[in-house]
Amino acid sequence: MKVVDHIKQAKGKTLFSFEIIPPKKGNSIQELYKNIDPLMEFNPPFVDVTTSREEYIYIDKGNGLLDKRITRMRPGTVGICASLMHKYKLDAIPHIICGGFTKEETEYVLVDCHYLGLDNVMALRGDSMSHQKYFKATKGGNLYAKDLVEQIQDLNCGKYLHDVVEADYKYNFCVGVAGYPEKHQEAPSLNSDLKRLKEKVDAGAEYVVTQMFFDNQKYFDFVDAARSMGVNVPIIPGIKPIAVKRHLQVLPQVFNIDLPEELILAVEGCKDNKAVRQVGIEFAIKQSKELLANNVPVLHYYSMGKSSNIKTIAKAIF
Ligand code: FAD
Repeated sequence: MKVVDHIKQAKGKTLFSFEIIPPKKGNSIQELYKNIDPLMEFNPPFVDVTTSREEYIYIDKGNGLLDKRITRMRPGTVGICASLMHKYKLDAIPHIICGGFTKEETEYVLVDCHYLGLDNVMALRGDSMSHQKYFKATKGGNLYAKDLVEQIQDLNCGKYLHDVVEADYKYNFCVGVAGYPEKHQEAPSLNSDLKRLKEKVDAGAEYVVTQMFFDNQKYFDFVDAARSMGVNVPIIPGIKPIAVKRHLQVLPQVFNIDLPEELILAVEGCKDNKAVRQVGIEFAIKQSKELLANNVPVLHYYSMGKSSNIKTIAKAIF
């Protein structure tokens, strides 16, 4: 079922969902199940599975030289989605990214998604590779998320790449895209980033999931600004509980977000990461309660592979 239909069916009740990252290759999917089993009692109607970019690895050749190879350390997004759907009877949403894929490869992934019965996909540009300063489109790939949304909408109209087939049969993917309450780091202004968001929605995106934020007012202002620009699709807030002291540096740097003074002081006052985790849980509960009181359609949690804190938060909210 489509995310937008889950939201409609809920008739104003806030839903619970979360995002997971595929395990590093070489690991069993049982670990993933063990991690998300405890969250199933909160009935997530859908969960997201990320896709990571390819990366360079260096293999020691044993003669003092290193071999530079490109690889994907966390493959299997679509396979994981299919297995989650099968095991938990929920909708699983693969993240489809522009970076590292040609349009043909993207088309094949979308064909797989369709055959597997996945009704939703999240269309993202992806970040630059770690050695690149700026995002560069893969040769023959999409440059912006909007281009990817257009490619998916073409399939929804029965239009394949290069017009190689005439298809009466049309796909019916519901497409989600990313939104940034504190602006995407490359955007010259929040207003210009919002215009880009509007372009993605005009191209066919049916809902937005936000980057993590720690100040609810920024989300409320973002939703107001998006609405005044004509973005009328559901805007799902993304919430990340702080879990380790290092997050104080890493999260603002990687995600271009501010942390509230109150949270910084509380984390700095912790004697170890166990205490930080508790502070993160309490802060996320407070944040979630306020969002819930403001009737957000879904509370979407970034689990980053660990679920025990999400479980405690969900227990306090749902
Ligand atoms: P876009 O919407 O294409 O925007 C990228 C930048 O380009 C923005 O600054 C925008 O303002 C600008 N822009 C857009 N169109 C134009 C144009 N025509 N001309 C000039 N500038 C333009 N990354 C992953 O690798 N894997 C994931 O699974 C993943 N999941 C995510 C889930 C969520 C909910 C979020 C919020 C992010 C996720 N990301 C993921 C990170 C995301 O890929 C990065 O933030 C990326 O840098 C931007 O992606 P986007 O889809 O927002 O890009």
